[in-house]
Amino acid sequence: MELNAVIVTLSTKNESFHNRNGEKNMAHRITDTCTYCGACEPECPVSAISAGDDIYVIDENVCTDCVGFHDHAACVEVCPVDCIIKV
Ligand code: SF4
Ligand code: SF4
Repeated sequence: MELNAVIVTLSTKNESFHNRNGEKNMAHRITDTCTYCGACEPECPVSAISAGDDIYVIDENVCTDCVGFHDHAACVEVCPVDCIIKV
């Protein structure tokens, strides 16, 4: 039973990584409640965030979900209005 729980946990975590073909499985996205404060942009370790016309934007092909850099999404941590979601 415990082993199954470990396997399920590992499987879930693996969804955040690139697969063997280097394709993205998950990323983060900024929603339209972004207040354009800019706090998230310098926090991104892979420079996936940039200023869009009305809101900041995450390049979902570049975002790694901070895997390999942090154990949490750095942009989510600093966003004052919690407008960054996992997709
Ligand atoms: S989750 Fe991490 S890698 Fe993705 S945009 Fe946010 S800070 Fe950048
Ligand atoms: S920290 Fe949040 S509110 Fe500020 S620019 Fe980034 S997504 Fe927008």
